[in-house]
Amino acid sequence: LVSRKKKPSDTIISVGDISVGNGENQFIMGPCSVESQEQVNTVAKAVKQQGVNILRGGAFKPRTSPYDFQGLGEEGLKMLRHAGDQYGLKVVSEITNPKDIELGTKHLDIIQIGARNMQNFDLLKEAGKSNKPILLKRGLAATINEFMNAAEYVVTQGNSNLILCERGIRTYETATRNTLDITAVPILKQETHLPVMVDVTHSTGRRDLLLPAAKAAIAVGADGIMAEVHPDPAVALSDSQQQMDIPTFEHFMEQLKQPHAVVNNG
Ligand code: PEP
Ligand code: MN
Repeated sequence: LVSRKKKPSDTIISVGDISVGNGENQFIMGPCSVESQEQVNTVAKAVKQQGVNILRGGAFKPRTSPYDFQGLGEEGLKMLRHAGDQYGLKVVSEITNPKDIELGTKHLDIIQIGARNMQNFDLLKEAGKSNKPILLKRGLAATINEFMNAAEYVVTQGNSNLILCERGIRTYETATRNTLDITAVPILKQETHLPVMVDVTHSTGRRDLLLPAAKAAIAVGADGIMAEVHPDPAVALSDSQQQMDIPTFEHFMEQLKQPHAVVNNG
């Protein structure tokens, strides 16, 4: 069902009054984790000022170590929703448990399924039964074929409001956190009719690479960019090494808005 052979035209995902996949770039910006109402409001305000439409923030955090901050759960979703409503932004957050898809449906505009859960088939099926747009991230070591099959799990349950997100894969390279598979973007655009976004934060894990990676993603036809922004990354409860502070984020957006960086999908 996700194959371009079945449906030659691009799927455009409506998220309220905004669209993903219509040839314009959408940006999903916000902190790695929702930490407090004040924190998420500060970021929401800055994000809105830059013309971004979608605010992110993790509430159920799939952390590698059980001793690390696990997120605020439903309270975090409510804070994100509140910030989104206050600043006129759509909100996206990750849901990790099939039984929490309902919470996501209640509080979010887009439900994210994270890299670690790309093959959580029960979660994919539950997401497929909801009517919310789903942002599905590529697994840590998933092939493009496995990624497309995961997407198929969602769509076969009836929900075709699906956005794919390349977020880097694990390779032998250690200079970056993951290896951004830039050619996955045109491959997924050719093979499927779904919008494709690129997460430059988790793929590179390096602040100095966010801008070149985002430019490259736009140049190869990505429908949008995700990146993390935090008021004070040094004290962030997760991903403190790679989130942008607000001035860096503003510079990032200004650079991407330069005419030479804006390439429409062919
Ligand atoms: C995230 O976007 O918050 C996240 C945890 O990313 P990923 O699932 O791609 O690692
Ligand atoms: Mn993060």
